Amino acid sequence: MLKNDQLEQWDRENFFHPSTHLAQFARGEAPHRVITSGKGCHITDREGNRLLDAFAGLYCVNVGYGRQEIAEAIADQARELAYYHAYVGHGTEAAITLSKMILDRAPENMSKVYFGLSGSDANETNVKLIWYYNNILGRPEKKKIISRWRGYHGSGLVTGSLTGLELFHKKFDLPLAQVIHTEAPYYFRRDDIEQSEEQFVAHCVAELEALIEREGADTIAAFIGEPALGTGGLVPPPAGYWEAIQKVLEKHDILLVADEVVTGFGRLGTMFGSEHYGLRPDLITIAKGLTSAYAPLSGSIVSDKMWKVLEQGTDENGPIGHGWTYSAHPIGAAAGVANLKLIDDLDLVTKAGENGAYFNKVMREALSAHANVGEVRGEGMLCAVEFIKEKQGRIFFDASEKIGAQVASALLERGVIGRAMPQGDILGFAPPFCLTRAEADEVAGKTAEAAAQVL
Ligand code: PLP
Repeated sequence: MLKNDQLEQWDRENFFHPSTHLAQFARGEAPHRVITSGKGCHITDREGNRLLDAFAGLYCVNVGYGRQEIAEAIADQARELAYYHAYVGHGTEAAITLSKMILDRAPENMSKVYFGLSGSDANETNVKLIWYYNNILGRPEKKKIISRWRGYHGSGLVTGSLTGLELFHKKFDLPLAQVIHTEAPYYFRRDDIEQSEEQFVAHCVAELEALIEREGADTIAAFIGEPALGTGGLVPPPAGYWEAIQKVLEKHDILLVADEVVTGFGRLGTMFGSEHYGLRPDLITIAKGLTSAYAPLSGSIVSDKMWKVLEQGTDENGPIGHGWTYSAHPIGAAAGVANLKLIDDLDLVTKAGENGAYFNKVMREALSAHANVGEVRGEGMLCAVEFIKEKQGRIFFDASEKIGAQVASALLERGVIGRAMPQGDILGFAPPFCLTRAEADEVAGKTAEAAAQVL
């Protein structure tokens, strides 16, 4: 094995890390960490530190680390047939089986799955399918996509535009003109402190209506949203939000894309977030939890309504000109089949609901009373602690104070990984579904200690 200092040198000299302060990393001011193994909710680094990963990687290792069933399915597939493409009617047993397993679990009125590699490319596919759909229907002007500020939908040109976070736009000349943004359903951060939840939902709806009015409904193709906001702050929507938004979309013939990259396959305690909040999507984006990140794989689940038009489109225009070399990669598909089987066998969706309710309870008990904790919120296996400068009068920390990062770092010193969310003052948690009660208590207790150390 290479000496640590050799590996660190290679890392700093050669490796372009995503979402990293490049200059600080090159100067050795930002951490270099090499992860070597994982088991259950824990990972171990090269120095032998064993860490409780309460963010499941990037909220993706939903079944936990070290699952032999998935590792073996991947190895068997690689030995038998590592690759064949999925173009012009080709496939593998794993990909076909997985498409059936996904549709069996999906909300009503879903018809087909298009496989990709990442959440970003799946959303890219969604936008292309939406444009194709409206072209086939003879309405070429109906192309704009509405997304929410604070939404996260990926890092590509279109998907980075859909993402409503400044960090992902800055200096990249985004968002592209086809994407427009509306208010996020983030009640804690509402402008008018006197507003009730109901009034705030009415405000979000009015903002959406005004945007549609300004742009013209005949120019707007779709609305994309995460059932519960993820990277933008881990924010479950206020009661009644989705029903009210969907009424507006249906009135204006605007398609709904449910981005379930985080919420799909159990994170909220239901198989899909759409089920949890009553969404009736035309497209669903899936990734992360589809394979629990044992191999890269994503998907766009297409509704019956859209599928009929896509079929008609190919009768008129020939084969659909959209495909990746690695669409439905057999190794990813084998990982997906084994992962979904494991979720069923261990009843992990129910466990995510039960363990998540316990986790959120102990987090609230441990942190809510702290003078600088504005809110502890969550749903299922998602939990956010939002820090605040002064509760009285709701004075927020400046993002540059990086309170979330400071508390995350104090927590890491105690052997627990939480994630400082991009907003700056939020510490996020999204543990594997197998988190035990003792582990939940440990995360809550150590987060309270870390917060007390920093604030
Ligand atoms: N959509 C959501 C809701 C996500 O949280 C993410 C990633 O975190 C993506 C899309 C993009 O997925 P990927 O990073 O696999 O491209």
